Amino acid sequence: MPTLTNLKENVVLAPYTTYKIGGKADYFFTANNKDDLVKAINWSKERSIPFFVLGGGSNILVGDGGFRGLVIYNKAQNFKFDGELLIAESGAVISDLIGRSLERGLSGLEHFAGIPGTVGGAIRQNLHFLSPDRASTIFIESIVKHGLVLEGVIEKKVEKDYFKFGYDDSILHHNKDICVLETTFELESKDPKLIQTQISANLDWRNQKQTQLSSFPSCGSVFKKIEGIGAGRLIEKCGLKGKQIGGALIPEKHANYIVNTGNATARNVRELITLVQEKVFKETGHKLEPEISFIGEF
Ligand SMILES: Cc1cc2nc3c(=O)[nH]c(=O)nc-3n(C[C@H](O)[C@H](O)[C@H](O)COP(=O)(O)OP(=O)(O)OC[C@H]3O[C@@H](n4cnc5c(N)ncnc54)[C@H](O)[C@@H]3O)c2cc1C
Repeated sequence: MPTLTNLKENVVLAPYTTYKIGGKADYFFTANNKDDLVKAINWSKERSIPFFVLGGGSNILVGDGGFRGLVIYNKAQNFKFDGELLIAESGAVISDLIGRSLERGLSGLEHFAGIPGTVGGAIRQNLHFLSPDRASTIFIESIVKHGLVLEGVIEKKVEKDYFKFGYDDSILHHNKDICVLETTFELESKDPKLIQTQISANLDWRNQKQTQLSSFPSCGSVFKKIEGIGAGRLIEKCGLKGKQIGGALIPEKHANYIVNTGNATARNVRELITLVQEKVFKETGHKLEPEISFIGEF
């Protein structure tokens, strides 16, 4: 059986998440390229050890009990341009790709300025952003051309349709045995000044409307959108802004966020999520569904 070099044990996961919450992983391996990702997944499978691919940790809540298995920290961040195509390994950070595309006058990714995370996480969730003028939601699927995935033990090149993109959805939610290794984005040439204007507008909007990660760790919106109504509006209507359990708080600035005020546990966040779901259902009849993933033992 192949071994993994630099495999660590009992690594606390909190620092690897934007929530700054989460217990220890039994095993922890940093993948520096796509071959490392494949090697680590095969290592787990050969030993029947559960594995979890961790990107930017910006859409997950890791339990206080940690993760029994191997966490594969995805730092496979190589990327290259080929004309208007951008071929990026799945651990590449979206904000880095936005900066490099801007330098080349290539448009497509700037709509996602200010959103944390990696290519792999973005594909899984079909990363999206409602434009500051609130006129349109732009999804990352609109610039995906094809991908390279590991499905089971088979590495294959796939077309965009393979991902079955939906709202907060893709095939990765339904088949846990798929890892995105690489994605090719189809960008288009544009005046860099116009790209920069879009980036600035998005960042300004975020600064005004959302709590900043640097002061309040979070994983962004907790609940899925309810078309035409808005999860945040329902939570606000139920008087839940400012509600706190332990260190977990619903901030005044954005009712669909639950922030870590400094010492929140995963249990605090889970309890607040349940409280919100129960109250909103009782008072409005709407069922709120979390858009974040719960990882490990709570
Ligand atoms: C302040 C803030 C604002 C946000 N705003 C938005 C927003 O406007 N729009 C939006 O859509 N999202 C938003 N998010 C959510 C989050 O940024 C995205 O969902 C992001 O795409 C998650 O990427 P990640 O690399 O951090 O994934 P992680 O949190 O590390 O992982 C999330 C899931 O993806 C899986 N995954 C990661 N990489 C791979 C891979 N290579 N192959 C297969 N599965 C993989 C993980 O196993 C896990 O199940 C926000 C989050 C924060 C903290």
